[in-house]
Amino acid sequence: MSGTVRNQRTLKQSVVLEGVGLHQGLPARATIYPAQSDTGIVFVREDLGGKTVRAHVGNVSSTKSVLSTVLSENDAEVQTVEHIMAAATGLYLDNMIISLSGPEMPILDGSAINFIKAFRQAGIVEQSSPARLLAITRPVSFIHGNKEIHAEPSSQFEVNYEIDFFGKLVQDFSFRLTKHRFQQEIAPSKTFCFASDVEKMQAAGMAKGGSFENALVYGEEGLLNPHAQTFENEFVRHKILDFLGDMRLAGAPIIGKFTVKRGGHAFHTRFLSHLISENLLAEIEHEPVYQESSMELALHWA
Ligand SMILES: [Zn+2]
Repeated sequence: MSGTVRNQRTLKQSVVLEGVGLHQGLPARATIYPAQSDTGIVFVREDLGGKTVRAHVGNVSSTKSVLSTVLSENDAEVQTVEHIMAAATGLYLDNMIISLSGPEMPILDGSAINFIKAFRQAGIVEQSSPARLLAITRPVSFIHGNKEIHAEPSSQFEVNYEIDFFGKLVQDFSFRLTKHRFQQEIAPSKTFCFASDVEKMQAAGMAKGGSFENALVYGEEGLLNPHAQTFENEFVRHKILDFLGDMRLAGAPIIGKFTVKRGGHAFHTRFLSHLISENLLAEIEHEPVYQESSMELALHWA
């Protein structure tokens, strides 16, 4: 296989993002620092004396990762990590320390676009070591009830995602990862919920930081807050954002062709654990199609 190896990347300087946590509703500040080669992505709980939680699927809390992805390690927990993980994938960032003031990432506007803006504001630097890249080695189907993920080898990350909520909210979208396409087509898509679930979630201590500004809310008659919507099929685009973020918990970006039907955080991360335990991922040394066209680079990195 011919191709070049990309070098690892991190931020040029630190950047701070402040807001509220989607589920716990607490003020949330994330300070994102550059990190040495081979650090990976590591969360730090400032409020717990600097306990660290590595962004890895082995740390996913399987019982809690339903509405958001929750990681726990060293007696510390971090919640709603999926959107910053997706942004890291989208900008090919390999190493950073995400220092949190509390248990949850700030939800910001419910999408990944503010992480992208913050990373670009901080600047991105190339490091001296080659980046790791994982590839799907053979076709696999992972099915549980009506949820399905099918994967096969590919020279890039591509996904077709399908959602079907009650036969009413049905969308599908295909996406192939490049920095340009991620920023344009996926990063601005907001998280969403159903009006009928809001009371139940809040009674269970979740979605306390949710609002009409940071989540699309779908009611009996359709979307209740169209002013917050960017794309007509934003729900499925956000599912792709979540899938990208969850798959980044492999510890490195993955290439492969994925077909996902009715997935969610718990199912995505169970699938990723399956890929690892069944040896369906292999580290590759050459990236067959990873370089973007020079036009895209000129447009977005000038
Ligand atoms: Zn999400």
